[in-house]
Amino acid sequence: MKTNWIDFKALRANLDFAAVLEHYGLTIKSKSKQHHGFCPLPNHNGKRNSPSFSANLERGIFQCFGCGAKGNALEFAALMEKIDPRDGAALREVAAKLQQRFCPDLRGDAPDTKASPTAKPKPVKKPAPESKLPVEVNVPLDFTLQGLDASHPYLLNRGFTPETIVRFGLGYCSRGMLKSRVAIPLHDAVGALVGYAGRVVDDATITEDNPRYRFPGERKRDGKLFEFRKTLFLYNGYRIKAPVDDLIVVEGFTSVWWLDQNGLPDVVATMGADCSERQAELIMSLVKPDGHVWIIPDGDAAGERHAQTLLARISPHRFVRWVKMAEGKQPTDLSDKELKLELLL
Ligand SMILES: [Zn+2]
Repeated sequence: MKTNWIDFKALRANLDFAAVLEHYGLTIKSKSKQHHGFCPLPNHNGKRNSPSFSANLERGIFQCFGCGAKGNALEFAALMEKIDPRDGAALREVAAKLQQRFCPDLRGDAPDTKASPTAKPKPVKKPAPESKLPVEVNVPLDFTLQGLDASHPYLLNRGFTPETIVRFGLGYCSRGMLKSRVAIPLHDAVGALVGYAGRVVDDATITEDNPRYRFPGERKRDGKLFEFRKTLFLYNGYRIKAPVDDLIVVEGFTSVWWLDQNGLPDVVATMGADCSERQAELIMSLVKPDGHVWIIPDGDAAGERHAQTLLARISPHRFVRWVKMAEGKQPTDLSDKELKLELLL
């Protein structure tokens, strides 16, 4: 059998990942830069009841949080064909097929096998979800909240500049689920808007039924259960140009805004005193192997727990430094100068 010479680099650069995904039966929203959905890989070894699979169509890479598979468009095709991407000869055959179908002009020889321009990709059946009421987690929103008041005193009185407020998309919400709260857009690890958190502006109104922070709830629609899980991503994580030398990890939103405003943009929050295993993985993925993770939790018992959890999960893999706040203090109490001193910048 004749094997064409394949320029893998050129092929990867020219492959339209959305077209490849569609070829394997996935439905891609037009104009979308991201795809989220059930994992289509035949070797996915888990339940297919949550959209664990995400693909960045611009960068041509994919990842499944369920089975851990990740790679580029070529490796995706190989896995769909039940081929081990490490098997060079087999991978070359997959590459040749992809090239013939999607980038016929790239080929340097064997014009006799050139794909007919009318050849249509044959649809592949999408695996059906196993659960009766499928659960979809952190599905990107198809709307954004309008009419948020970015000049609300809650934000301005805390020293946040209009630039910071705009940068994080914050604003007071006067109706709906987030009525009387500051709405905080939440983006998942690949930058898709997956929900809003709402922060009470008048702490005197906080009760068990009216918590300080409200996160998106569970809802049923179209025979599916939609769930939001903050433990699957880091607040501000999508903005970090990974891998970085130094990453700061804080508990809450306000600390992220404050540090960012004070010239420390490489900061993420776990959105609470806990750090899930997934969040720890994400933190490590953002920091170089010889980089540093700086933990700056609040100066209270929850902050202590936050730091201990992070140390346990991350210190075996990265240098970790815990910047202890004085009792009752938060990172937002530190001045620009104090922050830089604490972090030895
Ligand atoms: Zn998978």
